Amino acid sequence: MSKKKGLAKVTIYPDWCKGCGICAAFCPAGVFELRADGKSHVVREEECVNCGFCELHCPDFAVSVTPKEISRRKTDACVDLRVEAADPSAGTDPGPEENVGTPNREEDHGHKKA
Ligand code: SF4
Ligand code: SF4
Repeated sequence: MSKKKGLAKVTIYPDWCKGCGICAAFCPAGVFELRADGKSHVVREEECVNCGFCELHCPDFAVSVTPKEISRRKTDACVDLRVEAADPSAGTDPGPEENVGTPNREEDHGHKKA
């Protein structure tokens, strides 16, 4: 579950919403607002941290939270960059993640392979 803001699309199905206000009460990001029409409305979707509380607690299954398309494209782009970085023929610095892993025990103890 992502905790970054703005990566989710929040939808309320007005025909199902009965305006109980539970989603607004549970949402930690102030995404919802109850209005005079007796329904909940998404007013600050960009603040959503995709915690899923609203979907989980809506008694009428009227809320849907889904990853935005842009977040998937961004992930694909990151994967592409990692593949390029891991390719020695690319001649690029693999970055700090490549240095994290099991330590070379022989070097740790002052022994090196002949
Ligand atoms: S919890 Fe569901 S039914 Fe209640 S106000 Fe929110 S969307 Fe509407
Ligand atoms: S998933 Fe629902 S409860 Fe959680 S921050 Fe987003 S809108 Fe609010």
